[in-house]
Parts: sequence; structure tokens; C-alpha cells
Amino acid sequence: MGRDITNPDVLRVMGEIRREEFVPQAYQSQAYADGPLPIGMGQTISQPYIVALMTQELRVNRDCEVLEIGTGSGYQTAVLSKLVKKVYTIERFGQLSESAQAVLGRLGISNVEFYIGDGSCGWPRQRWDPILQRMAKWEPCFDRIMITAAVPKVPLPLIEQFTEGGFIVAPVGLSGVQELVVCEKKAAHITKRLICDVRFVKLLGEYGFEE
Ligand code: SAM
Repeated sequence: MGRDITNPDVLRVMGEIRREEFVPQAYQSQAYADGPLPIGMGQTISQPYIVALMTQELRVNRDCEVLEIGTGSGYQTAVLSKLVKKVYTIERFGQLSESAQAVLGRLGISNVEFYIGDGSCGWPRQRWDPILQRMAKWEPCFDRIMITAAVPKVPLPLIEQFTEGGFIVAPVGLSGVQELVVCEKKAAHITKRLICDVRFVKLLGEYGFEE
């Protein structure tokens, strides 16, 4: 990996998490190659270098609550889980989410909440209230958001769900090649910084690409 990944915590965590756990049997021999691999449902586990770069650019710390859109294999989720307080992750394919939940469970990772649905709409605005014993209204708000599939533009519900001083990292673009973008919210104003060109599968959904 090396290259421009200089954050020692990112390098350490990626050294600790066995990528082979997240890669289907047929691709085990390529688990440590620096490239994306198929994980089923026409989706991919991201290239390790891009996982490291996006994690570094998200500038997380131990106090962060992170929303991840596109659980996929759960590899990026696992990397984030070791660096932050809590990860909330959304995947549209139940089969991928369930498989990721099983792997993270096996690895003893317990600070992740999974949701199956359209992540372009953000985290659901209702959650179970254990005192009232019913679903209750919640205004979710995250310190960091990572989108791991290409978006035509950063979905509005996600801009609404991140805190002042927070960051969103996302591949943004209409064609096969996107720009990796870091958005920062300061004084209710969003600034954008471009990192590099990337290639991601599309985020399909209400605020993503049409299915
Ligand atoms: N970070 C993942 C990993 O480490 O395996 C790879 C993510 S893969 C490149 C993108 C994922 O986004 C796919 O699993 C895809 O099903 C999911 N996805 C696409 N549209 C989505 C949506 N609207 N909501 C949630 N997930 C979505």
C-alpha cells in the first residue's frame, strides 16, 4: 500500500483486519492484491488502497459516529469500526448486509449498526425507543459520512444528516470515472475538496442513480 497513506492508525488497522474474511471463496488467492473483487449481486469489495485513502480523508477519531452508505462485504465497515465510536451502515442488498453482519460478528466487532434499505435517503428517522416500547422519531446526525458507491451529487438527505465541522467522503460524478470528493460543513456552509479520480459501482436509489 504505502504511497500517500501516512496515517499510522489507518495503516495499523488495515494490517490487522484479514481481507480474506470478506472475499468469496473463489477469489481467496487474490484477497491481498491491490484491486477490487466481486462479492456477488454485481457488487465489489473496494481496492485496499482506496479503502485506506477514503478512511484517511474522513479524518476520524475515537469520538466519531460514522454513517457509511454501501456496506458491501463489510470490509470498510470493519476498518472504520476499529477507529471510531460507532458505525451505522446501510446496504440495499439484504444478502450482502447479512453476510457482512455474519463476518463482523465472527470477528467480535460490536460497535456497528446495520440497516437494509436505500442509503441515499440517509439513516431512517425513526428508531426503537426501549422505554416507550415503540418506534419513535429521531433526527440522526453523524460526525462523518462515507459513501462507497458513485453518486451523481452528494444526496441532500446526507448533507442534512452530518454535523457542523463534519466531513463527507464520496465518489461524485456522472460517467464511469468519478472524482473522490471531501465535503466539510463549516458555519452551515459546505466546502468541497477534490482528491483524485476513482471508479465505483453506482449508488442506486431515490437520491442516487436511477435503477
Ligand atoms: N465498501 C464496501 C466493501 O468494503 O466491501 C464496498 C462497497 S461497493 C463498492 C458499493 C455498495 O453500495 C454495494 O454493495 C451496493 O449494493 C451498495 N449500494 C448501492 N446503492 C445503494 C443504496 N442506495 N443504498 C445502500 N447501498 C447501496
